[in-house]
Order: sequence, then C-alpha cells, then structure tokens
Amino acid sequence: MRSVAVIGAGQMGAGIAQVSAAAGYHVLLSDIDMDRAKAGKDGIAKAIHRLVEREKIGAAEAEQIIARIEPVASYEPMASAGLVIEAATEREDIKRKIFDEVGKVLGHQAVLATNTSSIPITRMAQSSPDPARFIGVHFFNPVPIMGLIEVIRGLATSEQTVEKVKMFGDALGKSMVFAEDVPGFIVNRILMPMLNEACFSLGEGVASIRDIDMACQIGLNHPMGPLTLADFIGLDTCFEIIKVLHDTTGDSKYRPAPLLVKYVEAGWLGRKTKRGFYDYSGEVPVPTR
Ligand code: NAD
Repeated sequence: MRSVAVIGAGQMGAGIAQVSAAAGYHVLLSDIDMDRAKAGKDGIAKAIHRLVEREKIGAAEAEQIIARIEPVASYEPMASAGLVIEAATEREDIKRKIFDEVGKVLGHQAVLATNTSSIPITRMAQSSPDPARFIGVHFFNPVPIMGLIEVIRGLATSEQTVEKVKMFGDALGKSMVFAEDVPGFIVNRILMPMLNEACFSLGEGVASIRDIDMACQIGLNHPMGPLTLADFIGLDTCFEIIKVLHDTTGDSKYRPAPLLVKYVEAGWLGRKTKRGFYDYSGEVPVPTR
C-alpha cells in the first residue's frame, strides 16, 4: 500500500496526514472544500517547518514530507488509495454521508477506516460498500506526538482488514490496542465521564477552573487538568462523545453537563476557537471563570 486518503483536514485529519506522509505514504487530503483541504496542508507545513527549526528533521526531508500531501477537492482521486481514513466532525450523519459517497469510488481491496471517538463501528459499517473492509482507527491528539492507536473491529470486520491496519500502524511507529465495538471504546469510556464531571463541578461552583485543573494535575499527577484537556480536544467533540455514550447506553451517568452544553452553544469550543474554559488570545491561556 503506497497511498492513503484522509477525509477531514481539522486537527486530527491534519495530524494523521502528517504522520502518514512522514512514514512515506502519498496522502490525499480532503475537507468540505478545496480551501479547507489546502488550509489543512498549510497547517501541516507550518508544523513540519517548526520541526526543522528545532532540528528534529532536516530541511530536505521536510520538503519531501510536505510534497507527499496532496489536497483534493473530490473523492475520485481516492480510488487509488489502499486505505481511506475518515476524520471529519464527530457526527454520525456527516460520517455516514461521507462513507456513502467515498464508497462509490473505493478500490476493491481498499480499507475504509473511521477515526470516530465514540460512534459504533458496526452501525456505521452499514453505510460502507463492504463492512468486512470497515474498521475503527482511533488516533490521539496531537497525532504526531501521541503514540497510540485504538483499533476497533466491527462485527463484520475481516481479519485481513485488521492485518492491513496493523501494518499501517507499525509503519507509523504507533503502539496499538484492540477494543471491542462498545461506546467510547477503551480510552473515551474512561476519560469522558471524568471530563464531563469536571464540567459539572465547575458549573456547580465546586471550585474555579484553575483549582479544578490544578487539583488533578498536582493531586493526581495528570500531565494537564481536565478542563485544559477538554479545551484541547474541542468542547464540541467532548459533547458529541458524551452524548453518544448517553444515547447508546441510556445510562444517566453519561448525561452531558449543562455548562458543557452552554459552551458549545456559545461557540466556545476550546483552543480551536481561541476560547473555551480558557482564553487563548494572548501568549498564556487565561481561565475565563
Ligand atoms: P475538527 O473540528 O478539528 O475537524 C473536523 C474537520 O472535519 C473540519 O476541518 C471540518 O471542516 C471537516 N468536515 C466536516 N464535515 C465534513 C465533510 N462532510 N467532509 C469532509 N470534511 C468535513 O475536529 P477533530 O478534532 O479533528 O475531530 C475529527 C474526528 O476525530 C472526530 O470524529 C473526533 O471525534 C475524532 N477524534 C478527535 C480527537 C481530539 O482530541 N480532538 C481525538 C481522537 C479522535
């Protein structure tokens, strides 16, 4: 397999495109339009140039990696890709529409993978042309730094598909864990209730943003506090994940915190919009409450 396609050029799609290109794959990168796909590539180029400044890679290698990423405006060029990875917004309707459309050009041997954080793989496989070649590959943010991929097999996913993904993960130098197709898989099933609870705690006035984060950082030895992490992931993404956990299990322990809902409704989505629980417009993030 020499060519990989990535659909969605946001923080995760761009990261997946970057590490795939660094591993030597030709990468086709798309988003809702060509401008966004190109903006995704520009962001990757900036990140790679920073690696050159920090002497992590040479200038010639950097240009080779950037040159391997090709922004595309439609799915037709993806017919030649051995692996298509969807990394669009965490909404089932959006993802299903993508699978339906890219499925029309998908090669007969190609694998269609989703980077969903929580939506059931078996259910979404129904919108793909061949559920045996459909699989979950859940990367972590920021993709170039985080070493893990959760691999999630749907009910119909074939062994051959799992093997292909394993080879791809190995080529990227990532560690892989294998999860059952249950809501939230491993990491988000454990993480999201904690982030949601931090939002409840803030909303109920238990403590300030600074103190909730500091309590977990110093008291639990977490590398960053839960509200900082939620801002980093994106509050819209956190909301969609906890909603999927709630909807699919029916368990009230997963109900989204009202304050999280409010922030999403306000368009305060975290780092990507420069405001979430912290304000990112200056050099140092400032707590907003
Ligand atoms: P993001 O908001 O940064 O990017 C989403 C991108 O999808 C945007 O560029 C948007 O324009 C694009 N998009 C929307 N509709 C599209 C369509 N129809 N076709 C093509 N592109 C479309 O979000 P993100 O953080 O990159 O998350 C993307 C996926 O990765 C989600 O499924 C999310 O759950 C998952 N994920 C996120 C994280 C995280 O920490 N943020 C970690 C693991 C997995």
